[in-house]
Amino acid sequence: MTRTTPPRPLELTAVFPELATMSRNVTRLHPRSGSPTVDDSSVGGPLLWPQDEPWPTCTRSHEVYEVVELEALRAAHHVMVARWARSEDEPITPEEEAIHDRSRPKKIASPYTDPVPLLPVAQLYARDVPGLPVPDGADLLQILWCPFIDHEGDIPAIHMRWRCADEVTARLSPSPEPTVIELDDYWPAPCVLHPEQVTEYPAPDQLPDAVAARVHAWQEETGHHYTHFAVAPGWKIGGWGAVPSDAPDQADPPRCECGTVTEPLFTVGLSEWNGDNEGGWRPVEDADADDRRSYPPAGDPTQIELGDEQLQIYHCPESHEHPPVIVRVYQTL
Ligand SMILES: [Zn+2]
Ligand SMILES: [Zn+2]
Repeated sequence: MTRTTPPRPLELTAVFPELATMSRNVTRLHPRSGSPTVDDSSVGGPLLWPQDEPWPTCTRSHEVYEVVELEALRAAHHVMVARWARSEDEPITPEEEAIHDRSRPKKIASPYTDPVPLLPVAQLYARDVPGLPVPDGADLLQILWCPFIDHEGDIPAIHMRWRCADEVTARLSPSPEPTVIELDDYWPAPCVLHPEQVTEYPAPDQLPDAVAARVHAWQEETGHHYTHFAVAPGWKIGGWGAVPSDAPDQADPPRCECGTVTEPLFTVGLSEWNGDNEGGWRPVEDADADDRRSYPPAGDPTQIELGDEQLQIYHCPESHEHPPVIVRVYQTL
C-alpha cells in the first residue's frame, strides 16, 4: 500500500510568499510494521551484507547496569503483534505473559564491556527512495547503530555504509547481532517503507530575520505552530532538518570536519504525525487507524524512542567519504 500525504491544510506560501523560493523536497519514508527481507528497503530489517565483510561492532565499555535480551524483546514484539491481531475479548495467555516477562530489563553486576555488534536501523535502496543522494557506483544506503546510547553527548554511535547491491554475491546470513541491548527503545521494530516525496520549508530559526519575525507574530495571532506545517514529522530523507527553537546555537546546519556546511540526509523521527495532526501530515490511508487500538501504533511503528528528540544524520556535500555529523534535535509535537 502506498502512503499519501493529503493536500496541506494551510498553504504557507500564501501567508509567507518569501517561502516559495525556500522549498525543498523531503522524502517521508512512511515505515509501517512488516516483515522486510534483505532485498527490501526497511527500518529494523535485515541488511544485504557481503559474507566476507566484517560486521561493524562497538568496542566501548558501556557504563550500563541494566540490559534487555534482544531475542526476548523480539519474541515479545511478535506476541504483541499477534495479541492485537486477535479479538480484544481474548486475554493475553500465560505463555505470552511469560514471554513478555523475559523481555523486561535485567540488572547486571558490572558495566557492560563486551564488544557489541551494531544493530541495523535502516536499509534504503535508491530504486525505492526518491531523492536519496547516492554516490557514484552505489545504490544502497545502510545505517546501523550501537544499541547502547551511553556515548559521548548521548549521541548514538552510527555506522553508515553505501554499497552497490549487485556486488554482494555471497550474502552474510545470519548477521551477527547483540545478545543484549541497553533499552527496548533502541531496537527498531521491523518495518517496510512506503517512501513519498513532499515539500518542506525551513524551521523558524533558519528563516531570514524579517520572515521569522512575521512567523512569530502570525503564531501569536493565530495560535498555530508554524513548524507543524513547514517541517514533515517522522522518518525521512533530505529536506531542511528540524532545528530546535530553544537551542539557537544549533540554528545553523552543522559543519563537516572539512569546514563545509552539511546537508540533512536521514532523520530518525518520533511520531509519524504530530499529536493533534495540526500540520495534516497523517496519510489518507491511515485516516481511520486508531493508535490506541493497534500495536505497534500506526503513528509510531518503529517504536524507537530517544526521549522527545529526533536524531538527524547530516552528510558532507563535498564527499561521501567524509564522516557524517549526528545531532539530536527536539521535535515540537
Ligand atoms: Zn557503543
Ligand atoms: Zn566534508
